[in-house]
Amino acid sequence: VVVFVAEFRINISNLSEGIHEYDFNTEPFKIGLDERFQSAVKLQVKLDKSARQIFLQAKVRTEGTFVCDRCLDTFIFEVARKYSMVYVQGDRSTIDLKKDEEVQVLSPDTNYIDLDEDARQYIILAIPQKLLCREECEGICPSCGVNRNNGRCTCYDHVTDPRWDALKKLSHN
Ligand SMILES: [Zn+2]
Ligand SMILES: [Zn+2]
Repeated sequence: VVVFVAEFRINISNLSEGIHEYDFNTEPFKIGLDERFQSAVKLQVKLDKSARQIFLQAKVRTEGTFVCDRCLDTFIFEVARKYSMVYVQGDRSTIDLKKDEEVQVLSPDTNYIDLDEDARQYIILAIPQKLLCREECEGICPSCGVNRNNGRCTCYDHVTDPRWDALKKLSHN
């Protein structure tokens, strides 16, 4: 039998009340991230334990290799996300929660909090919708396919579209 032990695991069975801090570090594949992620995943955690709940604040970060939507080059991007979570032992109805708080209910005999899955999901959520190698990426020339970040092509010298003539006149004024 293979016993799965989480990479990001906190033993809460004898945790005293108050603040506890943790620094975790693991390989991305160990928490289920795909092959775009090759750098260590770092997770900083601050727990605030009180009589009836544990308030967690975490920052997870790593680096991913992505393909630029405009120029199709690969680039490395730091993906980072802060999140918080409230762990309630027993019954969530007895706890006074703010509306936007994320809550996980732990059974009374829970000894560990495992953070792998949350860390993985928050990394995935932190990937930008639009992936650009840089804000001012020039993209690929639609006629010759040259990556314009690496230098201008000469395509527009041959374009006969009158709209380009108008633009040329403008730029000469
Ligand atoms: Zn690009
Ligand atoms: Zn071109």
